[in-house]
Amino acid sequence: MLLEARGIAVSYGKVSAIRDISITVPEGKIVTIIGGNGAGKTTTLRALSGMVPIRSGEIRLGGTRIDTLPADRIVAHGIAHVPEGRRIFPDMTVEENLRTGAFLRRDHDKVEKDLADVYARFPRLRERRGQRAQTMSGGEQQMLAIGRALMSDPKILMMDEPSMGLAPVIVEEIAVIIEEINARGLSVVLVEQNAELALDLADQAYVLETGNMALEGPAHELHDNEHVRAAYLGI
Ligand code: ATP
Repeated sequence: MLLEARGIAVSYGKVSAIRDISITVPEGKIVTIIGGNGAGKTTTLRALSGMVPIRSGEIRLGGTRIDTLPADRIVAHGIAHVPEGRRIFPDMTVEENLRTGAFLRRDHDKVEKDLADVYARFPRLRERRGQRAQTMSGGEQQMLAIGRALMSDPKILMMDEPSMGLAPVIVEEIAVIIEEINARGLSVVLVEQNAELALDLADQAYVLETGNMALEGPAHELHDNEHVRAAYLGI
């Protein structure tokens, strides 16, 4: 198992956001976390990436305990996070944004190769590499956020609502990109409000409800689950 979280809990002050959450991510698979507003999806993803501390439980990456490490060490271990709302650096150019993804790396030749790979995957980023990031469209900014995450040479990509605020045709484009990235061996954890998209893309799925794990299983099985269909697929 590449990533294993066992019984994790996160609180914001006195408010408990998630409780007793266990998630496993096999190597090379896409795992999705779906659920309604405020269910705790973002909190779970941020906990897996070490961006919020866990109050109980443990998280292991390739067998090594990571929940006790600072966030930059977790990046160095191979977890990259594409945050909700992209969070690109608006005043920096496209290329400067991409290079920030590699700021911890010392393998400079491989960084240049990875930058060339990102440009090959996202030709629009290459065309606009000298342009300020804030002038890019929403879809382009999402591609930039994914490209920046890839620049850390991760083993696992954590994606928070990549479809948010994008037109359906752009969401399709992002879905294809996620499939291609995964086909090259990268594991993905995908948090989505768009359950239809998420269950289509994922191998394994988890359903969060008010901070608790409500359901888990193969994505195609959850897609056919009556509760999931009624609550999240509008069927
Ligand atoms: P959404 O899809 O609406 O973003 P979510 O499933 O990602 O929701 P979280 O953002 O993880 O849910 O929120 C889980 C719970 O934790 C919610 O009750 C939320 O109000 C609370 N919460 C999240 N962030 C904070 C914070 N920084 N301080 C206090 N409470 C928070």
